[in-house]
Amino acid sequence: MFRNSYESKVTEFFYQNMISCTICPHACRVNRIKGQKGICGAGGSIMIGETGIYQHSEEEILTKGLPVAQFFFSYCPLSCVFCSNYGISIYGHGTPCSPGTLENKLADYISGGIRTIFFVTPEPFLPWIIGPVLNIREKKRACRFIYVTSGYVLLEVVEQIYELFDCFVISIKPVDSEIAYELIGVRDYFDNLKRLLPLFKKGKRESCLPHLLIRILILPGRMELAENLLSALKEIIPVNTPISIMDSFIVCHLWKHYGIGRNITKHEYESIRLFAQNYGFNLIVE
Ligand code: SF4
Repeated sequence: MFRNSYESKVTEFFYQNMISCTICPHACRVNRIKGQKGICGAGGSIMIGETGIYQHSEEEILTKGLPVAQFFFSYCPLSCVFCSNYGISIYGHGTPCSPGTLENKLADYISGGIRTIFFVTPEPFLPWIIGPVLNIREKKRACRFIYVTSGYVLLEVVEQIYELFDCFVISIKPVDSEIAYELIGVRDYFDNLKRLLPLFKKGKRESCLPHLLIRILILPGRMELAENLLSALKEIIPVNTPISIMDSFIVCHLWKHYGIGRNITKHEYESIRLFAQNYGFNLIVE
């Protein structure tokens, strides 16, 4: 039933994006089927940078303390200088994978007892991923799908997959308009989030997971950016949305060329948690 009422609309939507890609706000309009590449660098087949089974790697509210499978997809519409996965996300390291192979991998994980599967920044490959996920759903395999994204994806795209994933994890970069281009490669990051986030005010599919979880990265020495972000978020998401303040900033990639070459301190981490708590946010532990 889920598939019958939904498949043709979503399949057509993503087919249009294969031939004229507007998945993210870059709206490159390249023909991916013909192998044309846009700003993210993704071509016409799924590329997986890494996949495997992970224990204690994500928030317990999502994993329920059990091992999970994760797929880290290559390429990303952003180019964050602090990205810890930059080999995969920026340079596109990975292995090509057909939709059929992806479906088999999903089925193998589920047959092996995995009940939660993370798709990490899959947006450039959504047109090729939707089919395997729909097929697994149709077979009523007992599994929860979690979509992890930077949030630089169009509202119209997330509307199409809103019911397909049990939970959306949006990992928000605390950048203002002055430094956004330098640090993450786009100027309209928060403008896009302001369009996207209100979508999650409408209900959720039946699931034991929250439909939205926000991760906030803290940039060393730039506490005011995280504070400004939390102030803005308070206006656009319910305060009971689970929020994970990330203490995992690591000095990597190009960050040393942009000023602060150190990790965040315990004091910085605790001060942002306190700031968020004072706003009444539903903080969870990583
Ligand atoms: S997903 Fe890639 S090709 Fe498509 S619009 Fe975004 S940057 Fe361009």
